[in-house]
Amino acid sequence: MAIKIYNTLKRTKEVFTPLEEGKVKMYVCGPTVYNYIHIGNARPAIVFDTVRRYFEYKGYNVDYVLNFTDVDDKLIKAANEMGEEVPTIADRFIGAYKEDVKALGVKEAAHHPRVTENMPEIIEFIKGLIEKGHAYESDGDVYFKTRSFDEYGKLSHQSIDELRTGARIQVGEKKEDPLDFTLWKQAKPGEISWESPWGKGRPGWHIECSTMAKKYLGETIDIHAGGQDLTFPHHENEIAQSEAHNCQTFANYWMHNGYINVENEKMSKSLGNFVLAHDLIQKHDPNIIRFFMLSVHYRHPINFSDALLEGAKNSFDRIRNAYENLQHRKQASMDQDGQKEWLEKVAQHKQQFEEEMDDDFNTANAISVLFDLTKDANLYLQSPQTSTKVIEAFEEALVSLTGILGVELKQEELIDEEIEALIQKRIEARKNRNFELADQIRDDLKARDIILEDTPQGTRWKRG
Ligand SMILES: [Zn+2]
Repeated sequence: MAIKIYNTLKRTKEVFTPLEEGKVKMYVCGPTVYNYIHIGNARPAIVFDTVRRYFEYKGYNVDYVLNFTDVDDKLIKAANEMGEEVPTIADRFIGAYKEDVKALGVKEAAHHPRVTENMPEIIEFIKGLIEKGHAYESDGDVYFKTRSFDEYGKLSHQSIDELRTGARIQVGEKKEDPLDFTLWKQAKPGEISWESPWGKGRPGWHIECSTMAKKYLGETIDIHAGGQDLTFPHHENEIAQSEAHNCQTFANYWMHNGYINVENEKMSKSLGNFVLAHDLIQKHDPNIIRFFMLSVHYRHPINFSDALLEGAKNSFDRIRNAYENLQHRKQASMDQDGQKEWLEKVAQHKQQFEEEMDDDFNTANAISVLFDLTKDANLYLQSPQTSTKVIEAFEEALVSLTGILGVELKQEELIDEEIEALIQKRIEARKNRNFELADQIRDDLKARDIILEDTPQGTRWKRG
């Protein structure tokens, strides 16, 4: 079965045909590294890592590039506010980003290019655009001449005249047409800057992605991806720059993930409802956060709340418990014949899972298939006699399919101190008559083979 992708450029699902047999060249727009990422930034990291994992499961070699914007206005502002240098802040938050997404099961990209490490290439790219008549210098700034690119607006499906209405030249901008956008920005005195043919300055945001995609993946790539909010103007401008410069199609498939709301509200500074991935990971098993993110189709908006996360935890525990029960049962099983129908059932579920993923990476439906598989595993475990082969088939299916989603069924063993701390938390909960939490802690420990025993002398525990 072929993989179908919803292509924003065509506004329809298309069969994926790679440029090169067995390979996927994929570029994902990464973060501007001036603070910790919130869950809205974590979503594309998780979603497109899952896309990558599925391609790899299907035998593709994925060349995955995710850039870091390590110099721009926000970074300069943050550096001024914190009294630090821009590179210091960038290094710190690149480190934090990598740590957070790693915890969320995101595989390391093949390349993590940074703007500041690609300055000669960016300057070359801008020079090329000027030579071809698509850009012009204006008093130390360089702008892209938007009207020189006939197909401008094709990604966001807007006509250039529609865009013209409402566009204004801001104070301090030195452009000829309100639609033109910055390629190179002149540095203010004291600002971090690089030498260029147009004087000291730094690149605009859009040009970095055009340059780095070309450098690491070539003039035409298979998939370009990012959050829905990047469609316009960022990705539209990337297309204009790349196609005007290279005279080639920039990307064959454009993928965009939907927004994330918190308690049904948009995340915003004024509401103060930003949820940082960093904080969330401290409080919850990152596997659950990832599982929650994938429980909704990547193009749809997703609503985040503690209750919904709790629901995801319960769902994921059902799969985990089935997996653990299969493992327990394996020792008591023997090789038996006549269980072909069960093996076929497992194979059918796997095939169904793949069909859902083939259909524009529909993880929401794929997760439903995982539940069907889990239900059958539980049903099978009720048989008086179980076969090692069938048990292993169920196990293998659960591990490989959850592996595509990037979630880990095996739980790390708790160390004694962690168990003691949870027992203390349970005692506190009972004191506060929060029996629900107390029972939850006991059940969670039981699921991890830690048995509690309440005695008049206090709570004892043992490994099951
Ligand atoms: Zn980009």
